[in-house]
Amino acid sequence: MYDVFVVGAGPAGASAAMFTAKAGLKTLMLDSGQGVTRRAFMKNHYGASNITGPDLVETGKRQAVQLGAEVMDGKVSSLRKTDSGIELILDNGAHYEASQVLLCTGMWTDVAEQAGIQTQAGTEPRIKSIIVIDAQGKTSMPGVWAAGTAAGVSMHTIVTAGDGARVAINLISELKGARWVDHDVLPTEK
Ligand SMILES: Cc1cc2nc3c(=O)[nH]c(=O)nc-3n(C[C@H](O)[C@H](O)[C@H](O)COP(=O)(O)OP(=O)(O)OC[C@H]3O[C@@H](n4cnc5c(N)ncnc54)[C@H](O)[C@@H]3O)c2cc1C
Repeated sequence: MYDVFVVGAGPAGASAAMFTAKAGLKTLMLDSGQGVTRRAFMKNHYGASNITGPDLVETGKRQAVQLGAEVMDGKVSSLRKTDSGIELILDNGAHYEASQVLLCTGMWTDVAEQAGIQTQAGTEPRIKSIIVIDAQGKTSMPGVWAAGTAAGVSMHTIVTAGDGARVAINLISELKGARWVDHDVLPTEK
C-alpha cells in the first residue's frame, strides 16, 4: 500500500513525486512513455537554459528517485475506489493500492474518464479535455488529485512543474494536518 501514486512522470508528475517522497510519503510514480515533453527543446525554462525535453524528463525522474520515490514504466488502464484507498490496474494486469492518487497525465484524460472522474473540454491550445479540479487540485473522486496539463494549466514546463509541486504540497498538507513547507538551507561556511 502506497501513500501516493503519481500517474505520469513528465514535469508535473516528477515535480510532485519529488515533494511527496521528500515529505516521507511512500510514493510510486508510473509512466507509459507517451510524454510530449520528449519532443521539446526549452529555451524558456527558468533556471535551466536551453535544456532538451528528454534531459529535463530524465533529470526529473532521477531527482524523484534520489528523494525516495519509486519510479516504474507502465500504463494505468483503470482506477477505482476501495474501502482502504484507491486501486490502480495496469494494462499488464498488475494491481496497486494507494491512499492518494495524483493524475499528471498530460494530454490524456482517458484514465480519469474511465473511472467516472469529471472532465471537461480543454481551454489551452491543442488540449481536447482536462480533469475538473477544485482550487486545491482535488478531482470529483475523493483521494484523487490532478495537476499539470491534465488539470488545465498552461502547457509550459515551468508552469506544469510548478503546478505539480503546488498540488503535491496541498496533498501533503492535508495528510499531515498542517501547511507543509519544504526548505533546505545553504550550509554556512565554517
Ligand atoms: C513539440 C513541443 C515543444 C514544446 N516546447 C516547449 C517549450 O519550448 N517550452 C515549454 O515550456 N514547454 C514546451 N512544450 C510543452 C511541454 O513539453 C509539456 O507539454 C508540458 O510541460 C506538459 O507537462 P505535463 O507533465 O503536464 O505532461 P507530459 O509531459 O505530457 O507528461 C504526462 C505523462 O503522463 C504519462 N501518462 C499519460 N497517461 C498515462 C497512463 N494511463 N499511465 C501511465 N502514464 C501515463 C505520459 O506517458 C507522459 O509522460 C512543448 C511541447 C511540445 C509537444
